[in-house]
Amino acid sequence: MALIECPVCRKRMSSKASSCPYCQAKTDGDNGSLARISHIQKSSSLMNQSFVAMTLFIAGVVIWFWGGEPAEGLRANIAGVCFVFGFVGYLITRVRIVLHKRKSV
Ligand SMILES: [Zn+2]
Repeated sequence: MALIECPVCRKRMSSKASSCPYCQAKTDGDNGSLARISHIQKSSSLMNQSFVAMTLFIAGVVIWFWGGEPAEGLRANIAGVCFVFGFVGYLITRVRIVLHKRKSV
């Protein structure tokens, strides 16, 4: 059994259910493809998150070395925060992508 998103209210429901338990919307019996679509949407949103984290990481590096000299004071703080959040966020998102891919649809 997989969880799919209700096409009407967007709440989580079973792919086996013939109607949504929240808004009673009938699913058209094509729940397999709905589950696949929701899986793909989750994958692409994870990819977006990893892209954002990577961008943050690179921004941190760029801010740090902007002007060819190591940052000091406020600039170093901003660069450090971007760097750390980007790096940690990227790692977390990569793990979530791997876990997500293991789930069968
Ligand atoms: Zn619903």
